Amino acid sequence: MVIGSGPNGLTAAIMLARAGRQVTVLEAAEQIGGGARSAELTLPGFVHDVCSAVYPMGISSPAFEQFPLAEHGLDWVQPDAPLAHPLDDGTAAMLERSIDSTATGLEPDGPAWRRLFGPVAAAWPALRHDALAPVIRIPRHPFQMARLGWLGIRPARALAGSRFRGVRARALFAGMAAHSVLPLERPLSSAIGVLFAGVAHAVGWPIARGGAQKISDALAGYLRSLGGEIRTGTPVTALPEADIVMCDITPRQFLAVAGNSLPASFRRALERYRYGPGIFKMDWALDGPIPWRAAQCARAASVHVGGTLEEIAQWEARFTGAPFLILVQPSLFDATRAPAGKHTAWAYCHVPNGSTVDYSEAIEQQIERFAPGFRSRILARAVFSPAALESLNANLIGGDIAGGAMDLRQFFLRPTRWLYRTPLRGVYLCSASTPPGGGVHGMCGYNAAARALDD
Ligand SMILES: Cc1cc2nc3c(=O)[nH]c(=O)nc-3n(C[C@H](O)[C@H](O)[C@H](O)COP(=O)(O)OP(=O)(O)OC[C@H]3O[C@@H](n4cnc5c(N)ncnc54)[C@H](O)[C@@H]3O)c2cc1C
Repeated sequence: MVIGSGPNGLTAAIMLARAGRQVTVLEAAEQIGGGARSAELTLPGFVHDVCSAVYPMGISSPAFEQFPLAEHGLDWVQPDAPLAHPLDDGTAAMLERSIDSTATGLEPDGPAWRRLFGPVAAAWPALRHDALAPVIRIPRHPFQMARLGWLGIRPARALAGSRFRGVRARALFAGMAAHSVLPLERPLSSAIGVLFAGVAHAVGWPIARGGAQKISDALAGYLRSLGGEIRTGTPVTALPEADIVMCDITPRQFLAVAGNSLPASFRRALERYRYGPGIFKMDWALDGPIPWRAAQCARAASVHVGGTLEEIAQWEARFTGAPFLILVQPSLFDATRAPAGKHTAWAYCHVPNGSTVDYSEAIEQQIERFAPGFRSRILARAVFSPAALESLNANLIGGDIAGGAMDLRQFFLRPTRWLYRTPLRGVYLCSASTPPGGGVHGMCGYNAAARALDD
């Protein structure tokens, strides 16, 4: 039995089915996929990604690459450039697939960019097996992992300050580091930034043709072809009877489902688990493409909207000033997302966990700053507060999209020192609250299923 049909639940289900087990997935929502879903959130004909939209870790996943997902309808689309970062001077710092083109656009910091991320990009095909696994084990590539660890453990602000002199490289790196959902002055806030830059050069930041749902549908299609079953509209409130129960849920829900049967020490360990900031998300149906002042921004599906490193750091540390936005404009590269000539986009900013503040005005103003006339293109919008997100998917506690804070302690021991295992025989955690954490890669489910089959 698998509780939850997010990418980790479906991957765990596939691994068990491939090992010959009879598998049933129980999903609370009417639609499968958890953080990988699409829906017409605004107007008919406009397909929006309800949660995730861009997949550097999905295309890197050692689990997904073993599955015939293309046969089940998954088609990665590579935008011209992985990421654009507009600045107030009307230009954009561009993260290109080519490290040389990126470096050229970031002078005087080109050589430093190449030195920092070149080795990560070159090592990524091998390194991803270590980077997407628990860190408390002997890595397959110890020297490359040690270098990644040495860089990643540093506060992003310090790393950018010591390596880059110009505004452009500093801002570009700060935006990527902000995906850590940590203040950029905190240890470990560089890790995601270093990884995302290296991965962009190695394999790109693709989107899924037709929307995020195609990833879940492909996983589900493969699972069904192996004899697995999925029941939607089935919220689980007590542990089901089965030889193996894989829980694609976070510690708080696990406590609600299994709390009474858990030893007190394990219960306390789960109660101590910390959730990170939430997000406030908006989706738009647009009458045309976003009118970026820097035309280069139309070459990327992902755009980081927030200006300089200092501005981004201020928002991520204190949620003051103008919000730092992660924005995706998939319809520029995938015509299936909107009627001809029309477009879709989403953007979110990090906010305090469970915040009830309405950030929609601040978000649209921040886009207008770099794309004057944006608002005049809006046909319809959908707005998701942290509470609204949690009501769509119970794993998004207080709007936390990573299954829990990714600070030092929870990076190494996630969610407890037992990682995937629990004291209950046959019961495992397999959500983003286990290593390697958030993102659509299925590796939490993959690793958890491997433990279950070993046991
Ligand atoms: C707005 C947003 C944007 C994001 N952007 C990206 C991105 O661009 N790229 C990326 O890689 N990642 C992104 N993420 C993160 C990514 O979506 C998650 O890290 C990932 O989906 C986690 O997968 P999971 O399987 O652990 O859990 P989830 O995908 O959250 O799935 C959990 C499932 O369990 C179900 N469930 C919960 N409780 C119960 C219960 N009691 N009984 C039955 N079912 C239950 C839920 O309904 C849900 O379907 C984003 C997330 C959000 C919310």
